[in-house]
Amino acid sequence: MKSEELLQGYREMKALLDGHFVLRSGKHSACYLQSALFLSDPVRAARAGEALAALLEPERPEIVLSPATGGLIIGHETARALGVRSLFAERKNDRFELRRGFALRRGMRVAVVEDIITTGGSVRLVLETVERAGAECVAVGCLIDRSEGARFPVPFHAIATLSLPVYEADACPLCRAGTPVDAPGSRGLSAG
Ligand SMILES: [Zn+2]
Repeated sequence: MKSEELLQGYREMKALLDGHFVLRSGKHSACYLQSALFLSDPVRAARAGEALAALLEPERPEIVLSPATGGLIIGHETARALGVRSLFAERKNDRFELRRGFALRRGMRVAVVEDIITTGGSVRLVLETVERAGAECVAVGCLIDRSEGARFPVPFHAIATLSLPVYEADACPLCRAGTPVDAPGSRGLSAG
């Protein structure tokens, strides 16, 4: 799966829309991106996992670790394609913890997998989780990198890279042009 195929899949699942949107942060954007809609199709999710696994495989990960909840489904599909286990870490205040009996062996080679990387903040916290466990993160992978150049101390692979500028509400060019705000729900979507 190439970048174009992934983005086409997002569009077909209405997980990538053009318009004028107010994000949960209150900022405005000309794009709406919702991976959960794309990943709700198990066949597409499996194919995306295979594509991400192919990018991560050269780093020889022994396990996949994802931040909940965004990384859960794609982490699992990537792990399935790699033939390794998939764990997830859960946010508690300013860190991600392994719960539910999940553990990493010391020295274990870990791939951290996320759906979308926007600031890279969650992934950096998960890298700290790996470090606290004495394991070694060997790669970070995601479906779409919209970070405008986030860097990590390990190889970073994304199937697609997108530049999706966001604007402060009082500095939004779409507002200034009088473009009405779209609500994704108004287009027959279930996610908001
Ligand atoms: Zn606006």
